[in-house]
Amino acid sequence: MTLDKVRQRAESDAKTYGYYLNPDADFLRDLLEGLKKNEERYGYPSCPCRVASGKLELDRDIICPCDYRDPDVAEFGTCYCALYIRKDVLEGKTPIAPIPERRPQEKQVRAYAVAPEVGVEKPPEAAKAVSPEPSQVKKRLWYCRQCGYVVYREDPPYVCPICKAKREMFAEIVVSASASG
Ligand code: SF4
Repeated sequence: MTLDKVRQRAESDAKTYGYYLNPDADFLRDLLEGLKKNEERYGYPSCPCRVASGKLELDRDIICPCDYRDPDVAEFGTCYCALYIRKDVLEGKTPIAPIPERRPQEKQVRAYAVAPEVGVEKPPEAAKAVSPEPSQVKKRLWYCRQCGYVVYREDPPYVCPICKAKREMFAEIVVSASASG
């Protein structure tokens, strides 16, 4: 994956969702480089501003564009890394402000606990104790009550990737033993 391809992918995604890429050329290039490096390292473009575990199951929510992008852009005007930004921010009508990390803390701790050595500080022993193996991540079936989109993952997404309904619109599909057997 070349840097140009990473850029094109981000541009196309921004266009699809009505966002813009950060106009600061150096800052933008650094973020795109980070995405490229992560894709080469892990096989998927995990967020350049967060620690990835290198295990797809644990990192699924921070593959760019992450689960948190849309709610962050809606609330703060940019994603956590400030790669994607809203029009009013681009036009300087709304200043860029620091964004609190929306990723649940237990997911951050898990990532730290199994993160590869590359440039990542290892967590305290206590953090390791609460980190499950990726195979222990309990995935469930969720469906969007607005558009019917179905996804198999640990938690429902914050925003439906198809119709943009909020997380609250997702319900779990419970398969009973009699139905499955
Ligand atoms: S915070 Fe921004 S750059 Fe990071 S994964 Fe989310 S959308 Fe991508």
